Amino acid sequence: MNLHPLHGRVAAISGSSGGIGKAIAMALAEAGADIAVSYHSHREEAEEIVSDITVVGRRATCEQLNVGDEPSVAAWIAAIERYLGPIAILINNAGIDGKTGNVAEINAADWDQVIQVNLRGPFLCSRAVLPGMMSRKSGVILNITSVHEVIPWAGHTAYCATKAALGMMTRSMALELQDSGVRVVAVAPGAIRTPINRNVWENPEKMADLKTKIPLGRIGEPQEIARIVRLLVSDDASYLTGTTVTVDGGMTAYPSFAHGG
Ligand code: BGC
Repeated sequence: MNLHPLHGRVAAISGSSGGIGKAIAMALAEAGADIAVSYHSHREEAEEIVSDITVVGRRATCEQLNVGDEPSVAAWIAAIERYLGPIAILINNAGIDGKTGNVAEINAADWDQVIQVNLRGPFLCSRAVLPGMMSRKSGVILNITSVHEVIPWAGHTAYCATKAALGMMTRSMALELQDSGVRVVAVAPGAIRTPINRNVWENPEKMADLKTKIPLGRIGEPQEIARIVRLLVSDDASYLTGTTVTVDGGMTAYPSFAHGG
């Protein structure tokens, strides 16, 4: 078994100062990749990850990034290429859930912000890395979506709409890139213990409700997503493109049908 399947590859990960992005950064570094860490507001956390990555013997950069902003994305990609080299793997991980509220009541600026980060972000980052990947005839773009690609969620319509759109973007881009050597895949996490849903896992009542929605009966850990991502960006997944791999403890398997019906 090759213990360092990503040796010599550069992986750029948006939103990697915490949560799933941080776990992915460490998993890919342990698999041999050099890592471009990025953060929006948590610089110190991002710098800690960079030092953890250097401890495992890989190189890392750390940049502030606003994924919805074209100049910020261009500067991020240029800095990575300057310090680490050509990007072999892009993980479009940065995402926000936005303000909770029904469509009848939320304002347009809150709606737009979710679209900016969750959908315009992956578009801008993908477009920035593609010319290089296509010219080298090799690369992987992996989009972090959500079970809310397919599960509707009241009060989170903008979030769900962006995740469904990112799933479709994954599939359409895979067609655009047929024969190019570039694969495009998505990973849809279920409920994973990260800052985004702290209000749930810190609240026993909400947690009890959440568990009824998960056949495996527990919240997932960021490393359980990162290990799948590590596999999917490696050559072991060479025949995988244009699809979503759902990692959700069974959340999308209609758990309410475990009884009755
Ligand atoms: C959301 C979490 C939620 C999970 C399952 C994720 O996409 O970010 O807040 O717990 O979906 O509903």
